[in-house]
Amino acid sequence: MYNIIFFGPPGAGKGTQAKIISNYLKISHLSTGDILRNKLKDNDNLAKKLKEIMSSGNLVSDDILNSIVSSRLINEVKNGFILDGYPRTLNQSEFLNNFLLETSNSINYIFNIQINFEILKERILKRSSEESRDDDNIDVIETRYNEYLNSTQKVSNYYKENYSEIFFEIDGSLQIDEITQKIKKNFKKT
Ligand code: AMP
Repeated sequence: MYNIIFFGPPGAGKGTQAKIISNYLKISHLSTGDILRNKLKDNDNLAKKLKEIMSSGNLVSDDILNSIVSSRLINEVKNGFILDGYPRTLNQSEFLNNFLLETSNSINYIFNIQINFEILKERILKRSSEESRDDDNIDVIETRYNEYLNSTQKVSNYYKENYSEIFFEIDGSLQIDEITQKIKKNFKKT
């Protein structure tokens, strides 16, 4: 059974790798960014609120994220899953821990994709022209990166300290297939 978390700053390639690895292991890929972007299409009050927060590069509230993730995970825990973009705050990681405890599950691989800010900026700007995401522009990148440094890095550090035997650092400046190989190697080792 594979229950996996991908960490990394925006633009590190965690979505790309999560997709490849989910196909390889035949498990679900839960990208909270994708789920939220889908919700924007509803055009209701919640969608308006989400759009405002997401296009500014800030984080959506923990309550919204925790309820989205638990309602999705409940269907996936039997088969395994990849979390991409969650947990991003300590509140979310506590919620996830409780959820896993209550459902007698646990995370067994964590990949932290690391990359420096200059490469990130280039990648995000390239993605903005390909995917036309309105949070992929130079003004918003810094806010998103700061959210990562201020909130999400605390979460990945928490897992690094407490789950070091399943926590793997991955160099995100490599080519896509080189990164995939580095990730896959860990499955063989453990
Ligand atoms: P992503 O595609 O993962 O970069 O997410 C895009 C945006 O969705 C983020 O900048 C946040 O506004 C929001 N978002 C995604 N996941 C989370 C999360 N776990 N907690 C809070 N906000 C999130």
